[in-house]
Amino acid sequence: MTGRIFRSIFLVACIVLVVCFAVIMGFMYRYFASTQKEALITETALAASGVEHSGMEYFDGLDGGKHRITWVDSSGRVLYDNEVSDVSSMENHADREEIAEALATGVGESERTSETLSERTIYYAKRLSDGSVLRLSVNRYTIVALVLGMLQPLAIILALAIAISAFAASRASKRIVRPFNNIDLDHPLENDSAYKEMAPFLTRLEAQRRRIAAQSEELNRKCEEFAAITDNMSECLILLTSDGTIVAMNKASMQLFGTDSGCIGNDILTLDRRSELRELVGSALEGKHCEMIIDFGTSKYQFSADPVLHDTVTDGVCILAFDVTARLLAETQRREFSANVSHEIKTPLQSIIGSAELIENGLVQEEDMPRFIGHIRSEASRLVMLIGDVIRLSQIDEGVYMEKEPVDLRELAEETVMSLTHSADAKHISLSVDGDAAVITGVRRLLQEMLFNLCDNAVKYNVEGGNVLIDIRDGTDAILLTVKDTGIGIPLEAQGRVFERFYRVDKSHSKDTGGTGLGLSIVKHAALYHGAEISLDSTVGVGTTITVRFKKQ
Ligand code: ADP
Repeated sequence: MTGRIFRSIFLVACIVLVVCFAVIMGFMYRYFASTQKEALITETALAASGVEHSGMEYFDGLDGGKHRITWVDSSGRVLYDNEVSDVSSMENHADREEIAEALATGVGESERTSETLSERTIYYAKRLSDGSVLRLSVNRYTIVALVLGMLQPLAIILALAIAISAFAASRASKRIVRPFNNIDLDHPLENDSAYKEMAPFLTRLEAQRRRIAAQSEELNRKCEEFAAITDNMSECLILLTSDGTIVAMNKASMQLFGTDSGCIGNDILTLDRRSELRELVGSALEGKHCEMIIDFGTSKYQFSADPVLHDTVTDGVCILAFDVTARLLAETQRREFSANVSHEIKTPLQSIIGSAELIENGLVQEEDMPRFIGHIRSEASRLVMLIGDVIRLSQIDEGVYMEKEPVDLRELAEETVMSLTHSADAKHISLSVDGDAAVITGVRRLLQEMLFNLCDNAVKYNVEGGNVLIDIRDGTDAILLTVKDTGIGIPLEAQGRVFERFYRVDKSHSKDTGGTGLGLSIVKHAALYHGAEISLDSTVGVGTTITVRFKKQ
């Protein structure tokens, strides 16, 4: 803007300068011309009176200066010319315009341009009393010659004027632009130094500023809302442009790809080059919905990509991914569980059917009958126990709501000891309860199951004459339930798996003791239901200690 204003001012100044020069030159030329003519008339009159008085003698020793003096008789014959020595060779001057006019009227004047065109000559003639004519002429410069003659001073003046104009134009343009540059865009109406003419513009600017401020505030609020929602999502959300450039990524997705906000603006494939991701983005960019599970180390993520359409044209891609490791694991476990349950149920049933068939066909001796019937009964009760355990696990799995109530763990432990006295006595195992009375808010039935399974295992996998101690401690931040036995112990390699469904360290021994392989699994789920943690400490041949830690709210 400054440049344009400068150029305009400078151009105007130059035009004005040139026009002024032209006008001044014109006036000067006219003034000089009229002054010169008046001087020539006066000089002609003076010379005429001199010649009138002295005749030819007047010219003796006369210095005409720049003037040419010609004297002709009444017939036009040249009597004297200060520039020609041999006047007899000069042609007759009677036809010269000014001389002819002087001969006729007394005075005559004319003006002629020389061949070079740079000079004009003015002539003035006066008739004397004897009829002769005295003519004086002087060269007058044409305007071109005048300009050419004044070229040097003119050029200096013009250069100076142009320099001054340039300087003035530069200062003026800066001064004009300064109020624009100094406008405080944040407070347009507080600009006192601005031009009055700018008031409507500043008012509109203020209105626009307010509108933009409101819009950007709204936009920021929406962005913050969006960020708050997406950043608190456990799912990964990624938005891409139509060429695969990342526009937005929430925290979960940054964690998944091990990156930070610096990746925004880069191609998604710079984060991860695996072919599945390329395929996923590719088909969404082609306008198709695409879903696939991609492995990230030990975790599995379900990716879902959808095109973002604008008038049927794919403008971008929206990718949503969530961790399905637990879900897939649960599905696998459920499948395995169903297979295991079927297998576990089939075995005792086949055994019952086999025994019943033998009895039915009269193949069992009378004295063996009680043993066979006893076998059928024990297999049937194992089935009932198994089905009971499966039902309880299913209930916990399904997350069925169970009423919570204050439960005294010590009281529960004593009840459990009572119910196990018979089987403990059979192996001469001593069962005892120690510790404080500790009340927790929980599901009585689940806690009963938990205590029963722990104590039942402590008895089942114990040695003749062994001990089982149930200890309850009411600590400051947790209640600890410990079941300690002096049994066979669990090998180190099996300790991580005993809480899995149907896992048994020694299948035959477990079956002999009537185990279903679901006891510790129920304990684990019951503990999870109460937000408790389980720890296991066991040494083969020494014994096992299982501790359940109930956190206090
Ligand atoms: P089960 O019904 O077979 O006892 P559990 O889930 O209760 O099934 O236990 C899983 C396995 O862990 C058992 O088969 C057994 O081998 C082992 N186990 C559980 N508790 C003890 C314990 N107190 N002492 C030694 N082994 C144990």
